[in-house]
Amino acid sequence: MSTIDELFEANLEYARDFNKGHLPMPPRRRVAILTCMDARLVPSRQLGLEEGDAHVIRNAGGRAQDALRSLVISQQLLGTREVAVIHHTDCGMLTFRNEDLRVRLRDALGAKAEHDAERIDFLPFADVEQSVRDDIAFLRASPLIPQDIAIRGFVYDVRTGRLSDVTLGAEERIGVQPAERPSTRPEARG
Ligand code: ZN
Repeated sequence: MSTIDELFEANLEYARDFNKGHLPMPPRRRVAILTCMDARLVPSRQLGLEEGDAHVIRNAGGRAQDALRSLVISQQLLGTREVAVIHHTDCGMLTFRNEDLRVRLRDALGAKAEHDAERIDFLPFADVEQSVRDDIAFLRASPLIPQDIAIRGFVYDVRTGRLSDVTLGAEERIGVQPAERPSTRPEARG
């Protein structure tokens, strides 16, 4: 039995007691979670989410650039008002550079693959807290993301199961007034 066969079997079990067929399409809690595809992350369990609660957008690293299309749809068509960007410790994105992956693709799949890969930024990073901040900055700078959308950033620790908030800089934790924050923050708008 292949793994996919096992998944299919597990779904039969899930559907046996299923009673959530009435849920509406828009997420009830009006939040989108952007996180990594890492197998150790199970957002519904780690964040207490039920069916119908939230959008969970996943990709390698939980990168915002890669998720912009989904976030726009989430916000404009399905009413989400908050974004939680969650990257994590021991992420695979910390282990390579674009160039490494391009060489690997060339060796494994040939020159055409290498050529196509030249146009792809695989969005690796060297610092997991910085990558969260970079993604928040990317979203804040995007004209496609309304300024009044709340955006928070976290690092999930795969050893402890805990999130730490990296949204706030040290100055904000000690109570700097909204006017002193960067003008891209919603609080600073008129
Ligand atoms: Zn990861």
